[in-house]
Amino acid sequence: MIANYHTHTTRCHHASDSEEEYIQVAIKNGLKTLGFADHTPMPFPDGKIGVGHHRMAVSEFSDYVETLLALREKYRDRIEILIGVEVEYYPDVFASLLKLLRAYPVDYMILGQHFLGNEDPGDPYAGVLTEDVTTLTRYVDQVVAGIKTGLISYVAHPDLVHYVGDDAIYRREMKRLCLAAKELNIPLEINLLGLVEGRHYPVDKFWQIAAECGNTAILGCDAHGAHRTGDPAEIEKGIAYANKFGIPLLQTLNIRPIK
Ligand SMILES: [Zn+2]
Ligand SMILES: [Zn+2]
Repeated sequence: MIANYHTHTTRCHHASDSEEEYIQVAIKNGLKTLGFADHTPMPFPDGKIGVGHHRMAVSEFSDYVETLLALREKYRDRIEILIGVEVEYYPDVFASLLKLLRAYPVDYMILGQHFLGNEDPGDPYAGVLTEDVTTLTRYVDQVVAGIKTGLISYVAHPDLVHYVGDDAIYRREMKRLCLAAKELNIPLEINLLGLVEGRHYPVDKFWQIAAECGNTAILGCDAHGAHRTGDPAEIEKGIAYANKFGIPLLQTLNIRPIK
């Protein structure tokens, strides 16, 4: 691996280690580019931070950017540091989110759709184990709408939705997601965190569909701890996983500007 674009920081309240520690591990593991993509702050109209407090507050965002700008400068001869965010596509909040992000030198957004709707009370976690077709279709609708903005550089854990109902329905819906990504030339992430922790994703039947649709993939560390930044054993597993389905793996990302 020469580039990882999915790195978190302690600001999301469920990751550890300093930014600099992630950078040092990335350099040790031979990465040429390290992109931070912490869970974006969400400028909800009522000022809430969101379910489970699993992201930084809007007020913490300038520190996130400034810390990374300083480290980019400090390490400029050794590694390229990119400033990204992992966003949710919430139709009611997306315009304000863009306004917030565009006020800073943010390099890219990846889409990780963890919740449905606008994360209002009653909107489910997208990865809930379910046989409910509506959860699946809502998930796909939101991911497709998100990437159609043309501002998303890749889809993180596209197979996060955990629908265990009828296979034909799963196939129909995920084909919709894969074909939209293919048409827009947006890579899909093989999520190494899910792979090494044995989470319900990556989902074999999803990657079978992606292979049939001709999608490209990229490995994402989804590092919530510095030691996982470009870990060679994890990369090897990720490459083997892609090869199992014959999915072409990108080494570097074609960054889509957010402006
Ligand atoms: Zn996270
Ligand atoms: Zn995520």
